[in-house]
Amino acid sequence: NQGLGSWPARRARMTPDRVALSHGGGRATYRELHARVNRLASALRDLGVRRGDRVAYLGVNHPALVETFFAAGTLGAIFVPLNTRLAAPELDRILRDAGPAVLLAGAEHAELAASLPARPADHGELTAAGDPAPIDEPVDRDEVCLIMYTSGTTGTPKGAMLTHANLTWNTFNLLVDVPLAHDEVTLISAPLFHIAALAQTLVPTVLKGGTAVLEPAFDVERTFDLIEAERVTVMFGVPAMFAFLSRSPRWPEADLSSLRYLLCGGAPVPEPLIRAYQDRGLTFLQGYGMTETSPGALFLAAEHSVAKAGTAGVPCFFSDVRLVGPDGAPAAPGEPGEVHVRGPNVTPGYWRRPEETAKVLSQDGWFRSGDIGVADEDGYVRISDRINDMIISGGENVYPAEVESALYGHPDVAECAVIGVPDDRWGEVGKALVVLRPDAKGGGADLLAYLDGRLARFKIPKYVEFVPQLPRNAAGKVLKAQLRTSHGAP
Ligand code: ATP
Ligand code: MG
Repeated sequence: NQGLGSWPARRARMTPDRVALSHGGGRATYRELHARVNRLASALRDLGVRRGDRVAYLGVNHPALVETFFAAGTLGAIFVPLNTRLAAPELDRILRDAGPAVLLAGAEHAELAASLPARPADHGELTAAGDPAPIDEPVDRDEVCLIMYTSGTTGTPKGAMLTHANLTWNTFNLLVDVPLAHDEVTLISAPLFHIAALAQTLVPTVLKGGTAVLEPAFDVERTFDLIEAERVTVMFGVPAMFAFLSRSPRWPEADLSSLRYLLCGGAPVPEPLIRAYQDRGLTFLQGYGMTETSPGALFLAAEHSVAKAGTAGVPCFFSDVRLVGPDGAPAAPGEPGEVHVRGPNVTPGYWRRPEETAKVLSQDGWFRSGDIGVADEDGYVRISDRINDMIISGGENVYPAEVESALYGHPDVAECAVIGVPDDRWGEVGKALVVLRPDAKGGGADLLAYLDGRLARFKIPKYVEFVPQLPRNAAGKVLKAQLRTSHGAP
């Protein structure tokens, strides 16, 4: 077995006694993880699961999810993790799309799972019943091991097929920049049903034989507790998670001395946030990527994170990134272009959607991200925004992410999102939706004056509206399409 399904077995051979998983006070060594994965794989095979069949899992971060992922890989089957925050009709649609042979669920989702259109099975019963005899299914690295549904930020989630090779190369890309050690303790509280937690943290941790600390959800207090108790060395988070931590009353006193790397990605990172972590002497690394590229595409190495703050870095070592202007020609430095990615980490396509695949994947392997980026003279790419979220005001392009980053500099702003609203004179103008900090003194009255001089006139929103919270998906991303519907009037 050349695929990821063999990784627990390989690790069990090399480092049987190291702790692989830590969860809710319980621990499993690599020997134990391998034994459980093998028994689960045997039981799934007895249920009729074969090469290429889909094995779905509905649940939050838990050892059962990790074991199901590796057990599916052991059989050459395809793991399909489901987003627990989706409503039943959305899960229904995804399951009909993926057509799994079997659906496993975490305890808290068992009831919901039983109502969905898939054959349910119990992880605990299967693992207890499974034959311990080793399985050696010949699995090739180019076979699909994962169908990961995209976050659904811009529309309905699409099932990106990812191969064992895709995930392996993504791990190599990460290790080039982040030299994970054998004794890494990785805190995984971002959901494993999104690509970053699974492929950017769990898989590299297992490759190195480190310990993955699994948390069912992100919680500020728990995060500080765990960092201190487990001596966490690596944590992945989306910007919203890191912002919550740095705003917490515990932030000044928390013992963060065990942390080696903070990995951030998935959404634009406001510069003040990067500085807040760097001021504490923490290595705050950020990258850019997407489900379809497993996910790493751009990475900002630690030594340049101050000088090139605000950019997402340069292409990952084994990948290529190009920026393509509106005319189809390469965008010059300083000019915006669509980000295209090519490399061994790029998906072979969307599951059962050849037309969608053809729209975004060229014959020669370039994947069109739908994001706009601008490179500087040194090739560092600043992700401006999504093509769909761009505002065109008086013929000028306004990138909401840039405006949001400026707003985050204001001490009263806890969260913000800028959308375009129709305007008789300019076609479109910006509207800022702002969540104030609880301790905001000025009530945000001076926000627009604050932006004056910091941003070009045409970029300054015409309207500011204060809201109690922003709608976000499970990946922590603000749902702009939803905001355009609910707050899109001038
Ligand atoms: P959908 O494709 O269903 O609309 P999605 O694109 O949000 O959802 P993901 O694949 O999880 O789903 O997210 C990838 C996207 O996240 C990128 O295309 C980009 O827009 C955004 N993103 C990721 N990292 C960064 C970053 N460092 N800076 C800015 N944007 C980022
Ligand atoms: Mg996308």
